[in-house]
Amino acid sequence: MSTRWTSYFSAKIEEILGEIEQYVKMESPTHNKEAVDRLGHLITERFAALGCKVERIPQSQYGDQLRIEYGQGDEQLLLLGHFDTVKEIGTLAREPWRREGNQVFGPGVYDMKAGIVFSYYALRTIIEQNIPLNKRLVFFWNTDEETGSLSSKAYIQEEAKKSSHALILEPAAGGGQLKTSRKGGGDFRLQAIGRAAHAGNDHANGVNAIVELAQHLVTIQSWTDYEAGTTLSVGTVKGGSVSNVVPEFAEAEIDLRISREEEAEKILQRLRQLRPILPGAEIILQEGAIKPPMVRTAETEKLFLHAQKQAQLEGFQLEEIGVGGTSDGNFTAAVGTPTLDGLGPVGGGAHAVDEHILVDRMAERIAVLLRLMTSL
Ligand SMILES: [Zn+2]
Repeated sequence: MSTRWTSYFSAKIEEILGEIEQYVKMESPTHNKEAVDRLGHLITERFAALGCKVERIPQSQYGDQLRIEYGQGDEQLLLLGHFDTVKEIGTLAREPWRREGNQVFGPGVYDMKAGIVFSYYALRTIIEQNIPLNKRLVFFWNTDEETGSLSSKAYIQEEAKKSSHALILEPAAGGGQLKTSRKGGGDFRLQAIGRAAHAGNDHANGVNAIVELAQHLVTIQSWTDYEAGTTLSVGTVKGGSVSNVVPEFAEAEIDLRISREEEAEKILQRLRQLRPILPGAEIILQEGAIKPPMVRTAETEKLFLHAQKQAQLEGFQLEEIGVGGTSDGNFTAAVGTPTLDGLGPVGGGAHAVDEHILVDRMAERIAVLLRLMTSL
């Protein structure tokens, strides 16, 4: 039967939704270690019950990272995702778990708790149905993706280097496409320090931090180069206190996106070379973590075509797309591991109030995932 696994999982959708519901009802904002660890315990319990070896990697600031292994062999396949969310505790009260027709809503359901549950059901089925594996499976569920994976990046890259392929359980693109390239990027902050003075009585003695900052912002934004795939966007600005005081402080946050890795260094060099313009002013640059772009290589293409074939076996057409947003797939691709991203649910509203997944697209995703896990 060609659509064997899609039918199999379709018959289990209510059960799978029940499992996702439990994950969603355990709110897990990145900065709340206790809450993230609570969900980490549930995930540990679930995978351990399947006979997996679960290793908790303790963290002081973030939730403990989970490295889960199943099967034998020298070669390994990496399945990667995160169980932290951008939604603070209490969001669930305003955006409750609910089903409206084909849509299921809830904080973190799409980004990306359903993806973890999908991989759990794929593995559980592989075990229950005695389907042979070609490789050892390593699931790495991290706890700080939404703030740049500062505490998990090194582990992720270490696992990726040891893996033949990386499958990322982040949500699919809008129409269900897999993500085969992503821009890289990050954000940084620029601060200007001036000297406060009364705007009426003492204007000449003031150094206006907002005026200092504004000139740099115009320059920085102008480094945008659409052809190179590099964009800079000044996203927030604040400064000053009241209109009759020359402001002594101003600050801006700037978003950077790159399609080519060398662009990151180029932009950083330029930023570091910025010098104060107004006499007496000072500027301070705070660099954030910059993710390298996830580049679509020949190996990526091969992997995608393989996934497309698995979808055809399940009777549907799978497409690919390149996107601007980053994920931990950027890190696995950067160490040369062929990476397929967006294998998680179809839906929408990531980080927004209408976050949801589509019920009738769940079974086909789990089916393809199972086929990838057993055929790669
Ligand atoms: Zn995500």
